[in-house]
Amino acid sequence: MCIFCDIIDHKIPSRVVYENDDVLAILDISQVTYGHTIVMPKKHFRNILEADDKSVSECIKAARIVSGMAVNNCHAKGVNVLNNCGETAGQTVDHLHFHVIPRYGRNDSIHISFNPSEKQDLDAVLAMLKG
Ligand code: 5GP
Ligand code: ZN
Repeated sequence: MCIFCDIIDHKIPSRVVYENDDVLAILDISQVTYGHTIVMPKKHFRNILEADDKSVSECIKAARIVSGMAVNNCHAKGVNVLNNCGETAGQTVDHLHFHVIPRYGRNDSIHISFNPSEKQDLDAVLAMLKG
């Protein structure tokens, strides 16, 4: 059983922001910022690594549409589009989804910072990443 599949099947109610044959976008129950939306494929995949190309690309297209809605209709100044893949990355629902998080300014309730970490040998990093 999957809570997002139950939402897609209308077994659990949701507030639909955008929908087409492949994707469903609904208001996130937690509303990290005003208009926080989750975009999911209608087909069940655990995460972005397991999903098929069409589901991923349709989700990204829908995330762009929802981002436009946030900026044009909610007057967001920017948007974070975020995917958590795996428990370590913060994924709590094992059905692929993208968060669309409208941003309103420094005082909104999400803080994402890219802090400098240990210096790395970039050639070694590249070699390992490419396998
Ligand atoms: P994750 O942590 O897996 O990236 O995000 C899961 C998101 O799903 C959370 O932000 C959480 O608030 C949202 N969520 C969990 N259950 C429900 C639900 O029943 N309805 C809605 N609309 N959102 C949910
Ligand atoms: Zn599912």
